[in-house]
Amino acid sequence: MKKILIVSLVLFAGKTFAQDINKIINVAEVERIEKVLASDEMQGRKTFTPGIAKASAFIEDEFKKAGLQYWKGLNSYKQEFFMFESLNASAVVKIDEQLIADTAVVAVSFQEKTSLSEKNTEVMSISATDDFRKKYSEALASKKNLLVLVDASFNSFVKRLKSRPQSKFEQPENSIVFVFGVTKANSFSVELVNKIFKKPLNNVVGVLQGKSKPNEYVIFSGHYDHLGIGKAVNNDSIYNGANDDAAGSTAVMLLARYFKALNNNERTLIFTTFTAEEIGGFGAQYFSKQFNPAQVMAMFNIEMIGTESKWGKNAAYITGYEKTDMGKILQGNLEGSQFKFYPDPYTEQNLFYRSDNATLARLGVPAHTISTSKMDNEPNYHKVSDEVSTLDLNNMTEIIKAIAISSKGIVSGKETPTRVDAGSLK
Ligand SMILES: [Zn+2]
Repeated sequence: MKKILIVSLVLFAGKTFAQDINKIINVAEVERIEKVLASDEMQGRKTFTPGIAKASAFIEDEFKKAGLQYWKGLNSYKQEFFMFESLNASAVVKIDEQLIADTAVVAVSFQEKTSLSEKNTEVMSISATDDFRKKYSEALASKKNLLVLVDASFNSFVKRLKSRPQSKFEQPENSIVFVFGVTKANSFSVELVNKIFKKPLNNVVGVLQGKSKPNEYVIFSGHYDHLGIGKAVNNDSIYNGANDDAAGSTAVMLLARYFKALNNNERTLIFTTFTAEEIGGFGAQYFSKQFNPAQVMAMFNIEMIGTESKWGKNAAYITGYEKTDMGKILQGNLEGSQFKFYPDPYTEQNLFYRSDNATLARLGVPAHTISTSKMDNEPNYHKVSDEVSTLDLNNMTEIIKAIAISSKGIVSGKETPTRVDAGSLK
């Protein structure tokens, strides 16, 4: 009796397991969630807008329905924080007694009013042969007042930089002023007036406490922010971001429900959708400061899994594949199935550094992004046409299931990826 009973129990368990994954992770659910997150009502989910607040409320509700716990110390799924945002209201710049046209000035300052001159400000130059982006970020990272004289060959950057609001966790005391098309300054004066805003934003975080290894974390993440509303193309001005990254967020919500239903995770699982990825990765940066990174065994960051990969269906790639053995572990769990994970084929694009996994990887965490996006030829990437109708929801469902199955050993605590050598990263 006993033997027979055990056998039938095992068979039964095997059957429900197989049924459960399709019951929870299926096309109808993927479509339901995608259609909400990528709807015009969410207004492109731009950070600091009412649209992203609606998206947050929806994800919170899904986490609640999934039965997730709150992150320690919080009393909701909202992991809220604040950022300072600065808008330059006016910049009067004189160099060698000459008034500089406003169209040649980009000011970055978090002071409501400030005056710069050679007495309190250093001068730096960006010449025609320099890497502008690199020098620009170097200047921005400075703690001193800087007047940066930029070669006229970079004039095309002015418009873009001016339209980009500056956001920071802290309110820096120094100011940085870029003047384009001027190569020398013997004397100068700058008068800046800025509008400073302190704005709330939030990640959405839910937890499934680990049974025997609660202090070992496994993170499943995506970002729920996108680009908002922009210039109309064919009467459409909303960047719906169905693939980028409503797709990853959808995966996070369904994986949460799946692992809750399995109810056998030995490690603590953290499900999070980050804010502010598109404007600098601030959501992941804040999130990464809320725990000891040594406790994180793996991070599955999921970005743009809604289109077919360059290898066709049932395949995805893992960024930074060679930096840990996590990719091999995941592939091992997929053996015998029709899914395949490949190393990132677009390494020249530095995708490993271009999503929220990089923040955790810099702390040594085996943190990779899983994606299917054809980055050399993805027609709707960062366009108003990134809509649900352009996605292959069947394939996306299979990718989410593959992530669930491939993470089995890591979730159970039986497999532990090697750590990223943070010193080797860019
Ligand atoms: Zn993205």
